[in-house]
Amino acid sequence: MAKNLGFLGASVAISSRMAFLPYGRQWIEKDDIDAVVAVLQSDFLTTGPAVASFEGALAAAATVPRAVAVSNGTAALHAALWAAGVGPGDEVVVPAISFVASANAALYVGASVVFADVDPRTGLIDPVSAGTVVGPKTKAIVPVDLTGMPAPLAEIGALAKGVGACVVEDAAHSLGATYQGRPVGADADLATLSFHPVKLITSGEGGAVLASSVRLADRAAQFRDHGIARGPAGFVEPSPGPWYYEQQELGFNLRLSAIQCALGESQLRKLPRFLERRRALAARYDRLLQELGSELLQPLGRPSYAAESAWHLYVAQIDFARAGKSRASVMAALRERGIGTQVHYIPIPAQPYYRALGHDPARFPGALAYYERALSLPMYASMEDLDVDRVVAALAEVLDLSA
Ligand SMILES: *Cc1c(COP(=O)(O)O)cnc(C)c1O
Repeated sequence: MAKNLGFLGASVAISSRMAFLPYGRQWIEKDDIDAVVAVLQSDFLTTGPAVASFEGALAAAATVPRAVAVSNGTAALHAALWAAGVGPGDEVVVPAISFVASANAALYVGASVVFADVDPRTGLIDPVSAGTVVGPKTKAIVPVDLTGMPAPLAEIGALAKGVGACVVEDAAHSLGATYQGRPVGADADLATLSFHPVKLITSGEGGAVLASSVRLADRAAQFRDHGIARGPAGFVEPSPGPWYYEQQELGFNLRLSAIQCALGESQLRKLPRFLERRRALAARYDRLLQELGSELLQPLGRPSYAAESAWHLYVAQIDFARAGKSRASVMAALRERGIGTQVHYIPIPAQPYYRALGHDPARFPGALAYYERALSLPMYASMEDLDVDRVVAALAEVLDLSA
């Protein structure tokens, strides 16, 4: 079964035999595998030079003083909030649209979560809403660079400064993005990355804290290592000898193995190429959706400030109600055509766990409006231009837009 949809001058064959397009996936090449094998044959499978090397490369890429590699992006948020001194009695402001980890990390350190609404056009934290919930108890604000687009960091930074809070930027989607010409992380006290396989680069599982100061990086590194200080400079007691180490705080084991760091550093070298590819794919989606000219199917809105997305996700805004289709049926019809989609994200205050804590999603109309229309289309660096054409043609068909 194959049929041609001739629109926009493009002719795209849709066949159930075509390769399945997931919404996101990793791109591992031979040099990545070689880098992992080299570490497996070395003396250190964890800690050691591959870890320091990856951290140095990350810090250089983000133009921050230090990076601390940790076991995943959630651990990075946990370590960053702890390093920022957030604890019991404090409040952490988190946008209502993100992955649950952005909020959970505040609870891990004993703080409470206060949600801010998002701009329904972009899904990014709304500084006006955030302004209504910050106060003397606010110890951190966690702007999330949803889809890879930097959050309004200047406004969030000003709000944080006004109440003496830290900015911990959740940059899980945005490594390589720029905000007013600066790389992500440069406009925050701390920023966090994830190297999960669907993210921009991968180490299998993995994450990192980008720190704006050596002091914050040292704290994050100590938290990663059980709260243990290494090296006499940081000791409270006089060191009796070279075996000595000192646990000063309650930390965790959040280490990223050297094997994973080698993969991460190999991937990081390709980030410019990956980003260029993602930007080209996003531009193609934008152009095809614009040429389709339907109000029912639009690209996500762009913020008014100068920023360049890293395009972790390509989220379309679909008016399912006016199209007369449920999101579930559209996703199923796309899946039948070999196209995977996903929804990023369900508003966190709507999760049963957060409702039970007293949060109410109805108080976040921007998040609900964004969520109602969001659908993440396939977006990954190894995708072909023709794959984008195939996705848009299938969407047009499923939504009855191509007539
Ligand atoms: C992926 C992700 C995380 C968590 O990263 P893990 O590596 O999966 O722990 C946190 N925040 C956002 C916005 C994410 O997308």
